[in-house]
Amino acid sequence: SSSSDLITATLFPGDGIGPEIAESVKQVFKTADVPIQWEEHFVGTEVDPRTQSFLTWESLESVRRNKIGLKGPMATPIGKGHRSLNLTLRKELNLYANVRPCYSLPGYKTRYDDVNLVTIRENTEGEYSGLEHQVVRGVVESIKIITRQASLRVAEYAFHYAKAHGRERVSAIHKANIMQKTDGLFLKCCREVAEKYPDIKYEEVVIDNCCMMLVKNPALFDVLVMPNLYGDIISDLCAGLIGGLGLTPSCNIGEGGVALAEAVHGSAPDIAGKNKANPTALLLSSVSMLRHLELHDKADRIQSAILNTIADGKYRTADLGGSSSTSDFTKAICDQL
Ligand code: NAD
Repeated sequence: SSSSDLITATLFPGDGIGPEIAESVKQVFKTADVPIQWEEHFVGTEVDPRTQSFLTWESLESVRRNKIGLKGPMATPIGKGHRSLNLTLRKELNLYANVRPCYSLPGYKTRYDDVNLVTIRENTEGEYSGLEHQVVRGVVESIKIITRQASLRVAEYAFHYAKAHGRERVSAIHKANIMQKTDGLFLKCCREVAEKYPDIKYEEVVIDNCCMMLVKNPALFDVLVMPNLYGDIISDLCAGLIGGLGLTPSCNIGEGGVALAEAVHGSAPDIAGKNKANPTALLLSSVSMLRHLELHDKADRIQSAILNTIADGKYRTADLGGSSSTSDFTKAICDQL
């Protein structure tokens, strides 16, 4: 095919194990004939004054232009005078919703085998607004911001997602009994949006009760939508339900149809460069990316190849109790394809 049929997507291989697992995605996409050409961008070695971070302006422009990207883990260099890489991406690209599908992998035994839920986290405000200060000695204050605009936007995305993916229920997770104004407003916005989606059941669950229900019977949940901090915590809890960080994908949805998929885990410096990392999380993130592009048959094929390889159990990386290298596991997926 000519290059004009190809979709251009930005790829940030990232740090640590990032380049190894990004290589795995490139190989799998090539084998599956996915019509994507990658525009690779690397984290810079100096702070770009235009972004105040190690990410260059050109990198951000690449995602804005392509509207689609895949990101490996990034280790934020420590030091003063720059912004965290993830925060820069989130703010500059206005990545307002973090979507994490979480389902039991057939053949990989954990405590539960019927998890099938999606957490949708508000990604721009709440407790992560960075507004903290000392009032007087011994007293500090942190400001939690909830706005109608951001709450409606993420609620709208959650219901839209539920409808588009044939899901039946959306649960808003909150602590409005205590945070009456902030979580109260969040819930009010969810209710308003729920009215526009009469086919989708809507419920409200207090966060503490939600945690108890999740560890007792995760099958009780379908789509969950929540403010920033709760989403950060609950989505990791859910990752733990299905077998850990090496497996869980995510996708960030931004203003103007931008989507940036990424693995949830970090750069894993302890195993970097050793051909040991499990590429599943990044591979499943790339599958989310394909779904966002509505390349569903490619997404289905790649997803089955990954799941079948794990279910077969012959090739598994060390985090799943196996002894395969990243490249052997990747090759096994390609052979399935
Ligand atoms: P980590 O996720 O990198 O590692 C935690 C543990 O999980 C390690 O033992 C690691 O070996 C293991 N692990 C993670 N991913 C794995 C995979 N794909 N296959 C097999 N094992 C895997 O968390 P950390 O050690 O707290 O953070 C390391 C660096 O990553 C830090 O610089 C941190 O800032 C950064 N980080 C980045 C992101 C991101 O870019 N989204 C997220 C989290 C952490």
